[in-house]
Amino acid sequence: MLVLTRSRDETIMIGDDVEVTVVDIRGDKVRIGISAPRRIAVHRKEVYDQIRAENKAAAEVKPADLTHLPSIPPQPIALNQPDPSFPRLAEDRRDPFLVAAIEEARLGLKEGGLPIGSVLVRGNQIIGRGHNRRVQRGDPMAHAEIDCLTNAGRLSTYHDTILYSTLMPCYLCSGAAVQFGIPKILVGESVNFAGAPSFMQSKGIEVIDLHDQECIDMMAQFIREHPQLWYEDIGK
Ligand SMILES: [Zn+2]
Repeated sequence: MLVLTRSRDETIMIGDDVEVTVVDIRGDKVRIGISAPRRIAVHRKEVYDQIRAENKAAAEVKPADLTHLPSIPPQPIALNQPDPSFPRLAEDRRDPFLVAAIEEARLGLKEGGLPIGSVLVRGNQIIGRGHNRRVQRGDPMAHAEIDCLTNAGRLSTYHDTILYSTLMPCYLCSGAAVQFGIPKILVGESVNFAGAPSFMQSKGIEVIDLHDQECIDMMAQFIREHPQLWYEDIGK
C-alpha cells in the first residue's frame, strides 16, 4: 500500500480524473472528499465488501441448492385482484414517471445506496432525475429529491413542474419543494416513512400518495436488510 502524508485541504490525484481531498480532521475521524467520474463507483469499504459478498452468494447458487427448496405449486397471477388496501395499477396504467423514479431507486440500490428515486416533470417530460446517493458520496444532503433537483440544473420557475419520489419526502426535501414553489408532489408510498406531507400541504403543495406496492416492497426489503443505513438516513 502506498502511504502519503496530507494535511487538511490537500489533495491526491489518482490517474487523471479521481481527486481525493482531506476535508476535515477531527480526533480519529478524517472526512475525505472524493470526486470521480460516474463510471467509477465509490463506496465505503464495508459497504463494498457487503455488496461483493451478496453478489458472490447470488452467483454461487448451484442447481443442487435449488433441489433442496420445498416445491411450491405455481400460483396463478392475480392480475385483476389488486390488494384492496394498496390499489396497484396494471403495468400499462401505472404512472410512467413513477416508474422512472423507481428505475432511479433501483440504480441507487445497485450502487450500494438507499433505493429512493425521484424525477422532475414539466409538460409530460422528465427534466431532471436522481436518486439517493448519501452512501455512495458520503454526503448527508444527497437525498433523492435533492439529487434530482440538482441534476435538473437552474430553472427560472418551478410553478409548472411536478416532483415525483418513490417515498414521501422528508423535511429536508419538502423544504426544497416549498422553497422552489413546486406545486405538486406525487409519491410512491408513505408506509415505510411518513415524511412531511402536512408541512407541504400547509404551504399549498398538492401531495398525492400513489400507494405503489413495488415502492412499498422495495423500501421494506431494504430496511429489513440494512437497518443501520436506513436509520442513519432518517437521522434516528
Ligand atoms: Zn429527503
